[in-house]
Amino acid sequence: MNNLVLNSERLNNVLENKENSFQDIIEIYKQTQNDPRELFSTAQELRKKFKNQTVTFSKKAFFNVVNLCKDTCSYCTYKAEPGDEKLSLMSKQQIVELLQLAKKYKCVEALFVTGEQPEQKYPEAREWLTKNGFSSTSEYLIHASELALELGLFPHTNAGNLNYDEMKELKKTNVSMGIMLENVSERLTERGMPHYLAASKRPNTRLEILENSGKLKIPMTTGILVGIGETMEEIIQSIFAIKQLHQKYGNIQEVILQNFQPKPDTVMKDSPSANENYFKTVVALSRIIMPEMNIQIPPNLSPKSYQSFLSVGINDWGGISPLTPDFVNPEFTWPEISKVEENSKKAGFELKCRFPVYPEFFSFIGKELRDKISIIENEEGLVKEEYWK
Ligand code: SF4
Repeated sequence: MNNLVLNSERLNNVLENKENSFQDIIEIYKQTQNDPRELFSTAQELRKKFKNQTVTFSKKAFFNVVNLCKDTCSYCTYKAEPGDEKLSLMSKQQIVELLQLAKKYKCVEALFVTGEQPEQKYPEAREWLTKNGFSSTSEYLIHASELALELGLFPHTNAGNLNYDEMKELKKTNVSMGIMLENVSERLTERGMPHYLAASKRPNTRLEILENSGKLKIPMTTGILVGIGETMEEIIQSIFAIKQLHQKYGNIQEVILQNFQPKPDTVMKDSPSANENYFKTVVALSRIIMPEMNIQIPPNLSPKSYQSFLSVGINDWGGISPLTPDFVNPEFTWPEISKVEENSKKAGFELKCRFPVYPEFFSFIGKELRDKISIIENEEGLVKEEYWK
């Protein structure tokens, strides 16, 4: 029974577990826009109810497998061009070496990231694949994932728009996969907008990939990018789109809310970063739209204040690496895990290490993967302390 009584009838309805429509959420946003305290306390109450006092993270190594990309997003600094200093074309040997190092650092997750279908645009990517004995990036990722499992890490692949068959193959070795929805707004793909030169970011394309992940029962991480010129209405629409997918297939394991930060070498270098209060409102609204969802913000993108997001609805810090940079946001180093633990504790929360697949989704993965997890899993379905500390 909830003891919190608020002035807003709509928010009281949220606490009473009543279903809220898109229009209800828009009204809640309008009502609380000037004074979001009731919205934030509602989100906090729901978070307490469904996620108690725990905050999780995944201890990972980031494999920047190939950062050539056939698309161009106005905010992206991850993508490289041939000849760039930051170009990454990891060889099998480099992958093995990083896996070994990751194991020494007691990482649990091997995050494999690539640009969008690089071999479609770049001869350099095709040569790199041939040299390593593969005909496509997804084939290479399957091999890398097998290596990760052999060396005791759990793969999570985020390689953009993979097709149904590629995802089906990767499911055999990946305990979960990821693709950001970013936003369902078509407007953001128009001329002058951030996704104009990124066909892979067309909302319908992304939604189709997520549909496929649902059909394949892949525990899926998705999310939205906040502060790239969208409206709050478009944010709410995007969160509802994720909710609907989850209602249909039940496979969305977490929602990342990523705040835009301008990068010096990009078209959007002069755009302001997402305003913190606006971002907190997005977090709180996401919690009330999907009260039971795992909701994550990356702590490195809010270095001074990440722990304050614990009181507006998040319950996860995502992947944190003790040895590799965040290649998507290289100027934002991850905080030390011990520091995250300390700051979470100060805010009243206990930090625990999870697998790249949340315990609620263990039934989605194959027996072989499940057996490997069970070796280092504690009674909560999280990683036993001696395997990550
Ligand atoms: S954000 Fe992804 S799809 Fe867009 S340019 Fe960067 S790597 Fe390519």
